[in-house]
Amino acid sequence: MRKIFHTCLGVVLFVVCARGTSILSAGIAAAQEGPHFGYTCEDYPASWGNLDESFSTCSEGTSQSPVAFDTATAVKEQLPALDPQFGPSTLEVERLAVNFEAFVEPGSNFTFVGDKRFDLVQFHFHSKAEHVVNGERSPLELHFVHRADDGALAVIGVFIEEGAHFAPFDPLIEVLPEVAMLAEGGHIEVHAVDVANLLPDSLRSFRYSGSTTTPPCVEPVNWILLDRTIQLSAEQIAAIQQTIRGFNSGFDNNRPIQELNGRIILVDDDGDGSGGCTIAAGSVNLGTAMAGIFLPLSAIAFAFGLRIIRNRRKRQ
Ligand SMILES: [Zn+2]
Repeated sequence: MRKIFHTCLGVVLFVVCARGTSILSAGIAAAQEGPHFGYTCEDYPASWGNLDESFSTCSEGTSQSPVAFDTATAVKEQLPALDPQFGPSTLEVERLAVNFEAFVEPGSNFTFVGDKRFDLVQFHFHSKAEHVVNGERSPLELHFVHRADDGALAVIGVFIEEGAHFAPFDPLIEVLPEVAMLAEGGHIEVHAVDVANLLPDSLRSFRYSGSTTTPPCVEPVNWILLDRTIQLSAEQIAAIQQTIRGFNSGFDNNRPIQELNGRIILVDDDGDGSGGCTIAAGSVNLGTAMAGIFLPLSAIAFAFGLRIIRNRRKRQ
């Protein structure tokens, strides 16, 4: 049975490799500076550790990403509060060898994780999602890559599902055909994008310690995977996927699942009833806040009034 499986796998790999090689030979693959890595048969993720000495953590690291997990087995904990201070920024969309990345203006966007500030450097997509949750793989995974002053890395991951058209991504998606025409390292500016609009309205998150999902597979990375997904239309998803696949000879740019090696996935314990909602989530929070002030005051006033009435009755 195992032999049959291996034979089948070999056939599948041959077919996939043949497709990648033929497209590569057509000259679509971009020239790269420095150590090369990719997702085709010549530079597929399982080989990254052997491609260059500086990539050794990709094969030798024990806390690698992405991982698969079930939400039901995540351990509830009071996690350091997540506080993204996202806002408007001009984006510099850079064409890389295997992907495109949208760099924000330095210092314009940052996230506090507890007391620690992580500056948002850039965001990018993976097609399809890299992390697998409850056995499901979303069509896209969005990574907001942050770096702290001390060099610590944090990535907020957002899963993207197919649904309604989501306009905040349009300014970026509209330039993708131009980005695809750029030489590697070239970039295009996209003005007036409010990065805050690219986040879902709940920040409840799953967290674990992992690595970058591309070489040199740096450990550790503070992974913060949001529970709430965002929706893009089928056309929007296709535009992003086609751009990425165009860079990778038709292959997706998602690294295979890595071993957990005993790591535990933590999840925000939202026992306070907030559901992980933030002030930015909308007026409901304001209403809740107002109720939080007035209801206790009303209760105190009611109790005080009751006491006066009782005292009067006692006197009578
Ligand atoms: Zn990524």
